[in-house]
Amino acid sequence: MLDRAQRFAGLMFDAAAETDEHAFIGDHLWTAFRRSGLAMSPFPRDLGGDDLCGPERSGELCTVLRLLGSADLSIARLFEGHVNAVSLVTRYGERDQLRALAARIAAGGLSAVWGANDARGLHVAGEGGGTLQGRKVLSSGAGFVTDPLVTATAPDGQVLCLLRLTMDEPIDLSGWQAQGMRSTATGAIDFSGTVVTSENMIGEPGDFMRQPFFSGGAWRFCAAHCGATERLVDLFKTHLLTTKRGEDPYQLQRLAQAMAAAKTARYFVEDAAQRLASDEMPGEQVVGFANLTRMVTERCALDVMETVQRGVGLSSFVRPHPIERVSRDLATYLRQPVPDLAMSDGARAFLSSSQSVGGF
Ligand SMILES: Cc1cc2nc3c(=O)[nH]c(=O)nc-3n(C[C@H](O)[C@H](O)[C@H](O)COP(=O)(O)OP(=O)(O)OC[C@H]3O[C@@H](n4cnc5c(N)ncnc54)[C@H](O)[C@@H]3O)c2cc1C
Repeated sequence: MLDRAQRFAGLMFDAAAETDEHAFIGDHLWTAFRRSGLAMSPFPRDLGGDDLCGPERSGELCTVLRLLGSADLSIARLFEGHVNAVSLVTRYGERDQLRALAARIAAGGLSAVWGANDARGLHVAGEGGGTLQGRKVLSSGAGFVTDPLVTATAPDGQVLCLLRLTMDEPIDLSGWQAQGMRSTATGAIDFSGTVVTSENMIGEPGDFMRQPFFSGGAWRFCAAHCGATERLVDLFKTHLLTTKRGEDPYQLQRLAQAMAAAKTARYFVEDAAQRLASDEMPGEQVVGFANLTRMVTERCALDVMETVQRGVGLSSFVRPHPIERVSRDLATYLRQPVPDLAMSDGARAFLSSSQSVGGF
């Protein structure tokens, strides 16, 4: 899997400037994505997958997400959402639901988790099914994701509906005028009138936000951020070598600081992935550490961006320099929900535990 992911990442990186310019992921990349096995990889082996979401494979999944994040964060984001959806259906759904999803993905589909709401939100009228009313916003892959897992408010709480889109649903991408992550097609989709039955309902009300998986799974987007951060350090190194500015003591200091920040983020992310995969640690500690990992990954990425931009100078702000694009995508994708709360919850988890910091 790693070799195939690496080859696909190479293609992604080569195409990334064009993908960004047109805000569009070309058909040749989707074909290569499917051929690489990544689309089916999160499913269990007996359903045609590679079991990449299995607890013993978390280190490998982390590497794949870093590789893709290092190549093109938009495609990494879409893959992360797909992996998240398959994990949720694996964990909370019935075997038949997972089998049906695997068949749809094998036939060319893609999944995602669409949780973000506008003020109105998405509602489902009856218990165990009914008719959807409302829309989802900030939904990545709008227009090409075929089988999204959407959250909706039901009489008995928040439910998860696995939808099979007709691809005729009204999509609004007009609001996605973001600085970066342009090709993610992140938009709004109206689901009013869509009928959902028990076949669409995954798990029990409240499963989506069940811990430690809800917050603990944040390591996956952190891994993609970490990959892009590492790419910036490598591009900085290339710049210093090609311009023969690498012996300057200030530049060496910048390179050392950027390396240390990228390595720090990676160690945190790998540890957070491993903690969620093992059953050995209390859930609060897994969540607390994942929240700290979000804080550390963000800080390291911001530090590396500033350091690299100062070290390279103006050209790192001029298209089509890859540092310009990677920084723009990274700055955008770093904006994740409630970062202050994640950071303070991380501190609270430590405060209320009996552990010393060394044991936390
Ligand atoms: C490229 C991209 C793709 C995405 N794709 C998807 C997708 O496919 N599906 C999906 O569901 N979502 C998606 N999202 C949306 C994502 O899940 C979040 O909703 C979004 O990133 C939140 O960003 P925000 O900065 O607006 O967060 P906010 O949580 O609004 O944070 C902004 C700031 O406000 C602070 N803050 C937050 N709440 C409070 C409060 N109550 N009081 C005081 N301060 C507060 C935060 O700490 C932070 O400083 C995507 C986002 C991006 C960037």
